[in-house]
Amino acid sequence: MTAPVAPGLLGVEAALEAILADVVPVGTERVATPVALGRIVAETVTARVSLPPWPNSAMDGYAVRAADTALATVAKPVELRVIGDIAAGAAPRVTVVPGTAVRIATGARLPDGADAVVPVELTTPLDASGRPGSRGRDATGPLPAACLVHDIVPVAGSIREAASDLHAGATLLPPGSVMTAAAIALAAGAGVDALRVHLRPRVGVLATGDEIRGPGQPLGPSGIPDANGPGLRAQVAAAGGEPIDLGIAADDLADVLKRLRGGIEVGADALIISGGVSVGPYDVVKTAMETIGRVDLWRVAVQPGKPFAFGVAQRPDGGAPILVFGLPGNPVSSAVTFELFVRPAIRRLAGRLDLLRPADRAVLGEPVTKGHGRRAFLRVQAERAPDGAPLRDDRGLVRVRLAGGQGSHVLSGLAAADALAIVPETVDSLPAGAEVALWWLDGA
Ligand code: AMP
Ligand code: MG
Repeated sequence: MTAPVAPGLLGVEAALEAILADVVPVGTERVATPVALGRIVAETVTARVSLPPWPNSAMDGYAVRAADTALATVAKPVELRVIGDIAAGAAPRVTVVPGTAVRIATGARLPDGADAVVPVELTTPLDASGRPGSRGRDATGPLPAACLVHDIVPVAGSIREAASDLHAGATLLPPGSVMTAAAIALAAGAGVDALRVHLRPRVGVLATGDEIRGPGQPLGPSGIPDANGPGLRAQVAAAGGEPIDLGIAADDLADVLKRLRGGIEVGADALIISGGVSVGPYDVVKTAMETIGRVDLWRVAVQPGKPFAFGVAQRPDGGAPILVFGLPGNPVSSAVTFELFVRPAIRRLAGRLDLLRPADRAVLGEPVTKGHGRRAFLRVQAERAPDGAPLRDDRGLVRVRLAGGQGSHVLSGLAAADALAIVPETVDSLPAGAEVALWWLDGA
């Protein structure tokens, strides 16, 4: 059997497995529930109270004994004496006995003796002299002396039983859960005022290259603006990390080392270096990685992004090693290798359990060619309906087209892409209409 990857290169899964083996989730802190949006749960969150804590009414109406309504019809309603009124937040002070009803608001605690609520829509109020008001309009007026019930209500009708949503002590959110808006509402609603979440992993980002210029710097005769520093810091933030800007290093070992050590000093959990990791005469990044730690792997069977390197460095205070990623300088290679190898590692550092993009299937709109022995990650764009929904063929496959040029320097194509289409190592070309795996990207 021929090896699926080109000689001298490491396969994608083997590389990711080697990287993740070094990843230990970062520490934790307690935060107030209302400000936990986007944080990753570190300790199981359990309900402090049952929900509802006591049986309450699901409707505005009358708390009754269901048996009292057994003979009620529209033509021959049952008359019940109204003996009290319970607003939401009020403690019931009356007990419903046969032949009586208590007016009750949605969310108010059910009084003793009642086993059902008649919605106000099924009743007609009667004043003290027996004069009927208008049928079932609302329950906002003065308390009627009695009410007519026009239909049968079942036992438990319009009642939310105690703990029917949640029992006190029930698991609300296991470790690794993302605090979405709904998760915040759930925890707060179950009486959880604060919870333990992971710290955001701190990730130093260093651009390298004598030709790379920071924002506002004159380009001169041979400079280009820094795309990777800002792009990678944004990718770090989107992956749940806190980016640290280590600036732009010259193609100079001492400068690269000084900036990496600066990142280590301020407590980085991971370092990302873009550029200078290839085999050119000025490529000092691998030497820098070996100086601050070790290089575990270099050159993976991907297109774009082959010169990717990974290693670790020791923390000054001991503990889990600092992850060090050397990404190729071409902006598309940098972004794609981040997707493949850095994003899953940051998510695991951040305490997430789901590390990879959701996979889909797609059909190519045009033929493609690629290098043998490497897995290609094509930047593609889904065809979409006017409402923005991706179009699928009759087998359910997303119809995609190449998002511009596929060169590893083509930033315009990267920005236009909403997904990566994956072509296996063993395939050199695919015709239009071929089926491929698809990874949706952020914002797709
Ligand atoms: P390197 O990996 O250093 O050999 O760089 C490969 C290509 O990517 C060269 O054309 C570089 O100019 C370009 N490049 C490297 N770093 C950046 C960056 N931070 N922003 C934009 N382009 C870059
Ligand atoms: Mg360079």
